[in-house]
Amino acid sequence: MKLLSDIDLSNKKVGIRLDLNVPVKNGEIQSDERLKAALPTIQYVLNKTESVTIISHFGRPDEGVYNSELSLKPVCDWFCKALNRDIQFISNFDQVPDGLCMVENSRFLVGEKGNDDSLSNLIASSFEVYVMDAFATAHRKSASTYGAILKSEQSCAGLLFANEVLNISSALEHKGSLVSVVGGAKVSTKLEVIKNLLLKSQKVMVGGGIANTFLKAAGYEIGNSLCEDDMVGTASEMLSTNKIILPNEVYVANSLDSNEVRRVSVNDVMPEDMILDIEFNKEEMESAAQEMIIWNGPLGIFENDLFAKGTRDLVSYLAKSNSNVIAGGGETIFAINKFSNMSNFHYVSTAGGAFLEYLSGSTLPSIEALDVK
Ligand code: ATP
Repeated sequence: MKLLSDIDLSNKKVGIRLDLNVPVKNGEIQSDERLKAALPTIQYVLNKTESVTIISHFGRPDEGVYNSELSLKPVCDWFCKALNRDIQFISNFDQVPDGLCMVENSRFLVGEKGNDDSLSNLIASSFEVYVMDAFATAHRKSASTYGAILKSEQSCAGLLFANEVLNISSALEHKGSLVSVVGGAKVSTKLEVIKNLLLKSQKVMVGGGIANTFLKAAGYEIGNSLCEDDMVGTASEMLSTNKIILPNEVYVANSLDSNEVRRVSVNDVMPEDMILDIEFNKEEMESAAQEMIIWNGPLGIFENDLFAKGTRDLVSYLAKSNSNVIAGGGETIFAINKFSNMSNFHYVSTAGGAFLEYLSGSTLPSIEALDVK
C-alpha cells in the first residue's frame, strides 16, 4: 500500500476520498471528530498543491435522488471555517475545477454504491492522484472507495487511513482473552461480522438494534423493535455457540417520540412496544474485564436522554476499565464524547463497520485496491 509520502504531489490535481459522514440534526453537526480526523491529510496535500477536491458520501440516500437533508453543504461550511479558506461546492465530477473544492454527497450519484465502471473511470480521470483516506468506508466496494482507486493514474492511502490500519493491525495480533460488545443500528452488516468475532472472542455482548434480532431468534417478544427478519436464522445459529450475551432488562416505549418509557425484563416486552435501550446484568458487565475489550455501536438510542442509560453505563465502565479497550464508529465516538472522553480509551477508531470487519479478519475492498496499486 503506497503512502502519501511515496508520491510526488507537487502541483498535481488531487482527489481525496474522506468519510465525512457525521451525525447532523437540524443542519447542526453533532460530533465533528471525524471531520477533525480528516484535517491532517487535507492540510498535508494543500501544502504541496492548490488543486484539491474533497469527496465523501453522507448517510444513505436513494441513488440518483437529491435529498437536501443529506447534503454535504453543512460539512463544507465546517471545513471553510476550519481551514480558513473558501471551498467551491460542486454537484458532481462532470468538470472538476482546479483549486480547493468539495463534491456533493457521492451517494447521490448513480453507480456509486454498485461500483459502476463509468463512474469509477470518471472519478479516477478527474485527478492525477487519488488519495484514499476514508477508512470508515473501506469495507464498501463502491465507485469512490474501490473502482476509482484501481482506475486512477496514481493512488495511495492518506494519513488517517494508514494510522487506522497500523493501530487496528496491532490489535489483531492480540492473543489473550477478548470480549466484544456490538450495538448500533446497521444490523445486516454487523451480524455477519459477529460470526467472525465469535471465533476470536470469549463472548460477544449484543445491544442496540442488533440485540433485537438475537432476542427474536431466542424466542422473545420484541414488538415493533428494529429487527432484520432475514437474519433471524443466522442469529439463531450464532446463539448455539453459547457465546452471545443478551441483555436482561430493556427500556421500551410505544414510539420513538414517546415520553413514557418503561424498564422491563426481556420476558415482559409487549407486542406494541419498541426496545430502544438495554441493560446487561451487572455480573455480566464485570466479567467482561478481559485483557482486551472491543466495542462498536451504541446500546440504545442514546441521542435521546430517555434511552441513553445503557450506552452511558457502558462508556463509564469502559473508561475506568483496566482492560485494553479499543472502540470505533462515528456514532460510537459521539457517545464516548457525550459521556466521557476519548483519552480514557486505549484506541478509538473513526470507523464502525470497517473497524469491526477488519478486526474480524476480513480483507477490506479499499485495502485490497490500494495493495495492487
Ligand atoms: P458508523 O457506522 O457511522 O461508524 P456506528 O457503527 O458507531 O456508526 P451505527 O451502527 O451507525 O453506529 O448505529 C448508531 C445508531 O444506532 C444510533 O444513532 C442509535 O440511535 C441507533 N440505535 C441504537 N439502539 C437502537 C435501537 N434499539 N433501535 C433503533 N436504533 C438504535
